[in-house]
Amino acid sequence: MRDPQLKFVMAFFSWIAVTVVLYIISAYFISNNYETLFSTIAIPISAFFMGIVIYVYSKEKLDGGQYPGPWWLEKYNPSNLVSFANNELSEKYSGLLSGIVENGLEVRIFANNGKFPPAFVGFGEKLGKTPTLYIEDSFIDELSESELTLLILHELAHVETGFVSKNFLMQRVFVFSFLVALALLMTFINLKILFILYPVPLFLFLISALSLILMIRLNKQSQIEADAFAIKHCDEKKAMISLLGKLEDYLMEGKYSDSVRTRSLEELKKRMEKIRNI
Ligand SMILES: [Zn+2]
Repeated sequence: MRDPQLKFVMAFFSWIAVTVVLYIISAYFISNNYETLFSTIAIPISAFFMGIVIYVYSKEKLDGGQYPGPWWLEKYNPSNLVSFANNELSEKYSGLLSGIVENGLEVRIFANNGKFPPAFVGFGEKLGKTPTLYIEDSFIDELSESELTLLILHELAHVETGFVSKNFLMQRVFVFSFLVALALLMTFINLKILFILYPVPLFLFLISALSLILMIRLNKQSQIEADAFAIKHCDEKKAMISLLGKLEDYLMEGKYSDSVRTRSLEELKKRMEKIRNI
C-alpha cells in the first residue's frame, strides 16, 4: 500500500474489529470460569494490534509525512500539493516586511484543483523560522499591488499571532486524547474488573471533543484578527475590502465544491463587516 493514510485507517479498524470480536467471544461464548483466562489472552492480542496502529502512525511521522491529521485540515497540507517558489515575490516581500519577519518569507505559487483555498500559510508543515505562503497562480494575477500586500500580511498574521502553532498543538491534543481514550476503552472492554476506570477514557473523549470545538472557534477568530493585523501594517481599508470582494468572486467561479463555497462565503461576509467597523 502506498497511501499512508489508507495504511493507518486499515491498521486502526483492524484493531477495533479484533477487540470487538474478542469482546463478543468473551461476553457470549466464554463461561464465567474461564473469563479471567480469556482476558489474559485477549488483552495482549488487542494490545498487539494497537501496537501496529502506533507503529504505522509514528513511522509515517518519522518519514516526514503529515498523516494522520484531522481530515478537514488535510486541504491545508502542502505536501499534497505541487508548488513552485517565486523568488521575485519572496525577495520583494521579505524586504518590504522585514520589520515583521526577521528571517524573511517564502512565496510559493500553485495551480489549484479546488481542494485548496486560493491562499494559505503552510499549516501542516514543520514550523520553521521562515513562513511559507502559498498563493494560487490565477488568483495572484487578479490582485493589485496593495491587495497582494494585504493578502500576504493576512497570511503572515496567522503565524505571527501564534495561531498556526496553537492550531498545530490542538490538532495533536485532539488526535492524541482520542486515541488514548480509545486504547483504554478497548483494553477495559476485555477486562470487566476495570469497569470502575471507565470515567478515564470518557474524560479523555471529552478533552478531545473540547479541543475540536476550540479549534473551530480559534480558526474563525483568527481570520478576523489576521485582517486587523493586515490593516494595521498596511493602512488600506478599501483595498482590503476589494481583496475580499475578489476572493468572493473567485470562489464563485465553480472550481470549488458547494460546501467549501458556502462556508467561505459566509466567513467572508463576516470578515467584511468587521473590517468596515475597524
Ligand atoms: Zn486566514
